[in-house]
Formats: sequence, structure tokens, C-alpha cells
Amino acid sequence: MRRTTDGAPASRRSPRLTPATLLLAAVGLLAADWGYRRVGDSLVGGGLLDETAHLLTALLVLWAIGRSACERFMTPTLIASVAIDIDHVPARLGLQWLTAGTPRPYTHSLLTIALLLAAAVLWRRRRWVTLGLALGVSLHFFRDLAESGTGVSLLWPWSDHAFTLPHGGYLATMAAVVLIDAARCAPWRRPLHGSQASIRMKPNAIPGRIEPDVGERREKQMPAASLNSASALPPGREPQSQPADLAIRSPSG
Ligand SMILES: [Zn+2]
Repeated sequence: MRRTTDGAPASRRSPRLTPATLLLAAVGLLAADWGYRRVGDSLVGGGLLDETAHLLTALLVLWAIGRSACERFMTPTLIASVAIDIDHVPARLGLQWLTAGTPRPYTHSLLTIALLLAAAVLWRRRRWVTLGLALGVSLHFFRDLAESGTGVSLLWPWSDHAFTLPHGGYLATMAAVVLIDAARCAPWRRPLHGSQASIRMKPNAIPGRIEPDVGERREKQMPAASLNSASALPPGREPQSQPADLAIRSPSG
């Protein structure tokens, strides 16, 4: 398994942040969010759109946090960002033992996050996985808080009060997250490669003039004779092969 420098398991095939993937994720989130608000909380259409929005919310936030967070948390965070909604299944089957008195199941509370953080402290070998799960659940709650008309009983079992956030606040936050992502994958932040690196501008260079790199400068400063023996010959003299030169200089005996 590939690992980060501090031993955390690194996600090998995590979705990479590029201008194209960012555009896809941002447009996908907008479309899924808009579609969910139109379709409502239906089991198939609404549920699929809502989980897509949850997944893309977590992905965009992970990209904004940075590459090391992506390598450590990507897989558990993305899984937790949608898997927490499995707790809705009993209510869909008509069993209310997880939701009596609260708009969402009891597992949609800060207690779940606290238990995951406690597991991260106690289970050090899987610390990055449980921290990633805690992050995914937190991001899931962030979106749930902004879904209209319901809210989340964050303080269960101490209180059934359903907390909410304005949906505009969620959208504004995600717009800021997308801006951070855009700055992270902007073309001018990428390292130069190959020929681009050799024509890199020096800090004291004259604007508009491309400075040659060190190798090219050395080549220009070397004597012409060392670069090409033919160029050192007097005009009109043809270059001769090495054995002929040796024959001329050798004594005749
Ligand atoms: Zn939920």
C-alpha cells in the first residue's frame, strides 16, 4: 500500500484536481442541488441527486483543504459523506425507532462525530481512516443542515432541537470553496517542465526578453575552437583528419 511520509495510507486513485475535473464537479453539484430541490425527497430520483450533491460537496472541500488531506482522507471521507444516510433505511421501511422525535435518525448528530474522533484516538493504526470518516460525516451534516424544511438534531440525545442553515449560506460557502480549488489548480501554479524550464524568466531579467538557461550560457562563453575545430581553421583551409596531421608532425628520420 502506498503511504504518505508520516505513514498514513495514501489514496492511489483519488480524483485529481484539474481545471476540467473542477468544472465537472462544480457544475455537477449545482445541477444535483437544483434537481434535488425540484424533485424533493423521493426515494429514487431525489435520493440519487442528494447523495451526488453530498459526494461532490465532500470532494470539493477535500480539494480545497489540499493535496495531503486528499491523500490521507479521500476514500474514507467520500464513503462516509454518503454512507451515513444508510440510517434512513429503517424509517423508509416504516420503522421509527431511529427517528422518534427528530427529523433525521439519531445517528445524524454530533455524537457520531465524537465517537469517530474517539476511535481515532484509541485506534491509532486506523487513525487516518476514522479521521477521514469523521470529516465525511461532518461535511454530510453541513449539507443536511441547509436542506429546506427539516434540519438536523445535532445535540441528540441531549436535545431534539433541529438546527438549520440557510441554503444560500451553503451555496455561498461552496462557491468560496470552488474559488479556492480554482486557485489551487490554476495553470500558473504548476511546475515548469522540459523546454519550459530552460526558458524560465530570471528575477532580474529585462521584461520581454527570454534569458537562456545556465547550460546555454556556458556554451556561448566557450571558445569557438573547443566547440568546432573546423571553425578555428584559417579561411580556405579544409579540415583534415587526425591521422594526416600526425603524419605531417612526425620526424622523417
Ligand atoms: Zn443525511
